[in-house]
Amino acid sequence: MTGTNAGDPDGYVDIAVVGAGPSGLYAAYYAGFRGLSCAVVDALDEPGGQVAALYPEKPIHDVAGLPGVKGRELVAALVAQAEPFGPRYLLGHTATTLTPRGTGWTIGTDRGRQVHAGAVVIAAGLGRFVPRRLPCAVPYEGRGVAYHVPDPAAHRDKDVVVVGGGDSAVDWALTLAPLARTTTLVHRRGTFRAHAHSVKQLLDSPVRVLTDARVTACHGTTRLAEVEITQEAGTLRLPAQELVAALGFSAALGPLADWGAALEDGLFRADPATRETSLPGVYAVGDGSTHPGRVPLISVGFGEAATAVNHAAVALRPGSRLAPAHSTDPDAAGGGTARTWS
Ligand code: FAD
Repeated sequence: MTGTNAGDPDGYVDIAVVGAGPSGLYAAYYAGFRGLSCAVVDALDEPGGQVAALYPEKPIHDVAGLPGVKGRELVAALVAQAEPFGPRYLLGHTATTLTPRGTGWTIGTDRGRQVHAGAVVIAAGLGRFVPRRLPCAVPYEGRGVAYHVPDPAAHRDKDVVVVGGGDSAVDWALTLAPLARTTTLVHRRGTFRAHAHSVKQLLDSPVRVLTDARVTACHGTTRLAEVEITQEAGTLRLPAQELVAALGFSAALGPLADWGAALEDGLFRADPATRETSLPGVYAVGDGSTHPGRVPLISVGFGEAATAVNHAAVALRPGSRLAPAHSTDPDAAGGGTARTWS
């Protein structure tokens, strides 16, 4: 069962999902399962939302049926689950505009693409992530300096410096230490904000921990080679081919806030029964949506995504049933190939 408009040269899909976090990826699966074509737009270059960007190596314990699944594994499983239905991924595109088009909508992106859709599911979390930058490291971004770690194996046998004092910084240091030649954690304060258990692990690990310390300069010709670290006692230079600035991310709805859907505390207000926003055919799910009694968790976002897509399915195909066939029914499984738009 594939979406009737999946190959439309006009770029029309039944459902456009904004955000490829867990809620958006599950919405993409659900659209396919309901026989609807789907496009997923995300500002990041990889799917997974907060899970991929902030904690891909952390085990997540409260996703139903997957005890202790690593963030990275959960995202890969969500992508694989949707893949047979061939959702189109438009990664590295920020959705900026929403305009009515017939009975549906057109989403415009910051890179000039348009997605025409019968319905829109906003699964944008708290908005587009922007990393907090380490000013002296900016010239080496992409040349040894990164804000998260998409591939820990790339740090094998390297001298790694992690900067920060929260959970991400401590987790990255612990994840990379077994792979790296040396791992140094630099934190500007004397105490960590991270989980106490993780801090204990850190202090028991081979990671060199420098507190009340700042990275004050980066050196290297084509790539990062050394960092300068300043403490009260003086300055030291360390070899560093990789620096992870885990200083946190800020998130902002940005242009989505001007789409005309009613907001409450910066979140899209959604009907709890249907997930529809104040705009007809525009649904909101996951962390970026709200209703009385909201619980922002991955597992809740999954349910909201299924609810939104089932209601969109009825709106797009009047006469179709709200409750889908069981996924165990062999006729309910679809086909197709995932595609990425550039
Ligand atoms: P997000 O994951 O935030 O994804 C939103 C996506 O939308 C992002 O990829 C973003 O780039 C994209 N986006 C935003 N605006 C635009 C735009 N204009 N155009 C294009 N794309 C856009 N939850 C749990 O249930 N269990 C846990 O154990 C757990 N641990 C956590 C640990 C940490 C350190 C953190 C930070 C969170 C944790 N959470 C946990 C919360 C969980 O990650 C979120 O509830 C979940 O990621 C929400 O998913 P989402 O798909 O709604 O939004």
